Amino acid sequence: MNYPHNIYIHVPFCISKCNYCAFYSVACGNPDWDKYAKDICNELKFWADKFGGINIPTIFFGGGTPSLMPIQVFEQIMDCLNQFFVIDDNCEITLESNPKTLDKNKLADFKSLGVNRLSVGVQSLNDTELQFLGRKHNVNDALILLENAHNMGLRVSADFIYGLPMHNVQSVIYLCKAINKLGLKHVSMYELTIEKNTPLGKMNLKMPTNDEMADMYNAISDNLILPRYEVSNYAVLGEECKHNQNIWMGQPYIGIGRAAAGRIFVDNIWYEEMGNFEKFEKIDDTTRATEKIITGIRTIRGVMLSDDVANQINFDWVKKHNDLIVQSGDYLHATPKGMLILDNIILDLIK
Ligand code: SF4
Repeated sequence: MNYPHNIYIHVPFCISKCNYCAFYSVACGNPDWDKYAKDICNELKFWADKFGGINIPTIFFGGGTPSLMPIQVFEQIMDCLNQFFVIDDNCEITLESNPKTLDKNKLADFKSLGVNRLSVGVQSLNDTELQFLGRKHNVNDALILLENAHNMGLRVSADFIYGLPMHNVQSVIYLCKAINKLGLKHVSMYELTIEKNTPLGKMNLKMPTNDEMADMYNAISDNLILPRYEVSNYAVLGEECKHNQNIWMGQPYIGIGRAAAGRIFVDNIWYEEMGNFEKFEKIDDTTRATEKIITGIRTIRGVMLSDDVANQINFDWVKKHNDLIVQSGDYLHATPKGMLILDNIILDLIK
């Protein structure tokens, strides 16, 4: 009997390229959707042939801009998923969306085909900032989509970006208070990072310092009414993204489509997989345990100290740094101070 696997499906097309974007995505008015759907279904069939009809607890359509998909293309992919796998009755099916690409009717179609969670790229509640970021929607477009999704009974999440050159602690507090009024149950708050070969990377911007960014990060947890459950994610208890949580906890997942990565667990062996059949290689248990630490320690609950994980932890270092990392029961988690410097401490935490 093979293990359940979560599924991530990458949709690499966007209406235009945002000014900060370094993700793999193509700004493409009219992609070859038939070829895309065929390629995705071929990949799904490949894994189904390998595993048999395994259970699927979550499916996440990420991008790129999945909401750009014509509904017939989405239907074809859902048909393949239903044909090849056993989709759990309570399977969480998330669709990432750009407010410019999704009206009420199309959203209702996505819902009727199984989507039960919508992630909306709101990014800012200020139209000038949205223009600076190169987003093609305005605040009103985003608010209408949030409301439509909410009224349809979908679980809703909104993404925001903070740490823009014009931001300071006060503007982040103002943003959090405005978000609080939206009544959302899940929010992701991402720090703006400037990547070299992007329009923002070429603008020689004066960005907030690391200390200022840290103050903004702390201001978010102080002012957002939703509690933080991962470095960048905030939710009412029970409204967390199940897909991401499963992956952060170390469950296996299949990445479908170019630029998607997966971790497959079959016959007690872990494999690293790249979508589009680009890679399928065994990974040793130590590497896999290290990955679990890196993702688990970013969550408020922390990383579970299963035997494979515990073997990789430098407990002597942990004892001397209990202002940064602490153990509670079977979990090891970062303190608020540790959360701010996770990238630095991870090297010391792992043997
Ligand atoms: S919508 Fe997302 S993936 Fe597409 S260009 Fe903008 S940031 Fe990149």
